Amino acid sequence: MSARPVSKVLIAGGGTAGWMTAAALSKFILPAGVSVELVESDAIGTVGVGEASIPGIADFNRMLGISEPDFIAATRGSFKLGIEFVNWGAIGESYLHPFGDYGFALQGEDFHHFWNRARLHGDAHALETYSMCCMAARAGKFMLPASDLQSPVSQMRHAYHFDAGLYARLLRSFAERRGVVRREGRISGIERDGQSGAILALTLDDGSRLEADLFVDCTGFRGLLIGDELGVAYEDWRQWLPCDRAIALPTARGETTPPFTRATAREAGWQWRIPLQHRVGNGYVYSSAHTDDDRALDVLTRNMDGNVLAEPNRLRFTPGRRTRFWEKNCVAIGLSSGFLEPLESTSIQLIQEGVSKLLALFPRDGMSPLETKRYNTIMADAFDYIRDFLILHYHATRRDDSPFWNHVRTMDIPDSLAETLDLFRGNGRFFAHKGDLFTLTSWLAVMVGQGIEPKAYSPVADSLASAELTTTLKDMRETYALAASKMPPHDAFIAHMLKKASIQGEHA
Ligand SMILES: Cc1cc2nc3c(=O)[nH]c(=O)nc-3n(C[C@H](O)[C@H](O)[C@H](O)COP(=O)(O)OP(=O)(O)OC[C@H]3O[C@@H](n4cnc5c(N)ncnc54)[C@H](O)[C@@H]3O)c2cc1C
Repeated sequence: MSARPVSKVLIAGGGTAGWMTAAALSKFILPAGVSVELVESDAIGTVGVGEASIPGIADFNRMLGISEPDFIAATRGSFKLGIEFVNWGAIGESYLHPFGDYGFALQGEDFHHFWNRARLHGDAHALETYSMCCMAARAGKFMLPASDLQSPVSQMRHAYHFDAGLYARLLRSFAERRGVVRREGRISGIERDGQSGAILALTLDDGSRLEADLFVDCTGFRGLLIGDELGVAYEDWRQWLPCDRAIALPTARGETTPPFTRATAREAGWQWRIPLQHRVGNGYVYSSAHTDDDRALDVLTRNMDGNVLAEPNRLRFTPGRRTRFWEKNCVAIGLSSGFLEPLESTSIQLIQEGVSKLLALFPRDGMSPLETKRYNTIMADAFDYIRDFLILHYHATRRDDSPFWNHVRTMDIPDSLAETLDLFRGNGRFFAHKGDLFTLTSWLAVMVGQGIEPKAYSPVADSLASAELTTTLKDMRETYALAASKMPPHDAFIAHMLKKASIQGEHA
């Protein structure tokens, strides 16, 4: 690999991944004298879906200096406290996966052990009655977390629903203002160094030639540089995650904007509902081995409300990831690096992870095998941990009403996931992996929400007398319910944010 210092970066592709990368490099790398160029093709376009996020995106905006009101205004966004899962454990069941914690730790032990002790002694109160986010979400309320850590409102934790196309536009103007040069054109050729195999330049179909020292492949599912040119293999995870197609179909906004995403399990996959200010994003993610495209469209349209605003957008994908993300002088970020279905809204988070690790390991003095290796390990782990969490949603079901659910309920699962489930089933034990995006709250929500209930609990939970436990749990439930009742409705909070914005969205 070359030890040539990096003085120019070329980003191939201008979807969400391309412009998130460009914005971050424009703020942190360009001022150090490294030039940044981005090439994209309006004729090819972007994947054009992707509207729900997890809380980390607020850190990305903060890092760039984009304020929350400006983000909400520019992207026609709304607030998201979690995801409601409907019909997953069994038809007719529903639970929320909140972003904020359940309860408060007692005697230094995780709250759920105390809840589980009460449950095993006949207390039927659901876990979500101990979650500030769940109580607010169910009431259609929203406010930002309180700074007083004694207040239940300090446990509010949120992400956003937003128009990813408008977000890319916001980031584009951010990056261009800071000196990123955008080139319009279709990449038609890639030149490589005969000896090292490193990429030297991309050629466009108008004949122009764009040289750089470092290339970021943001060309979407195709992976023009990382896959087609450098030949990095793609691991196919369909044996665990059989969904490989989606149809997206926006509808007119409803009367109110719920502060959560809804994911409803259907006969051969699941349907999303994502409420924005100006519309509702809907889609059906399904397995082509278990249904066909016409039936999938029928299932989706039969289960939506509101006027349809566009033609169906059909997408095909292979769940999985690259075996390496950084190869020679090329880093793949976004769909070119891998794709996991949007069940837990993780794709944009994985872009953010890729961008922040690229900044942390930026090869100012040339490519270093040590840094490249570290990047590849971090990104592979991030994908693998999310994969296990997604498989959990399918595997932990009692549904037996279709070949799809029979398949996922009985399929073999990765050893890492089997171990996590066994630990939890026994004594309610759970240990997050280092750097894992989904920690105790998330796993607890899905495992308990889909009927995996631990047989026992930590001995620390026995340290409270039975009457004291009953009173403590009752107080907690009442505190959360009261706090939720005092919060403003979500739509009122969005209106309040829009008044504070210094920029206005296209539709504002
Ligand atoms: C059904 C579905 C639902 C999703 N929902 C969510 C969600 O809720 N939350 C979430 O976080 N993520 C979601 N995602 C993922 C999200 O949409 C993507 O992660 C995000 O849009 C990033 O895409 P990208 O920029 O990598 O690729 P793309 O948007 O495909 O952009 C590729 C870019 O490369 C350019 N390009 C390609 N080939 C060439 C060429 N030859 N020459 C020049 N330019 C070229 C294109 O013009 C384009 O600018 C979803 C994805 C799908 C498929």
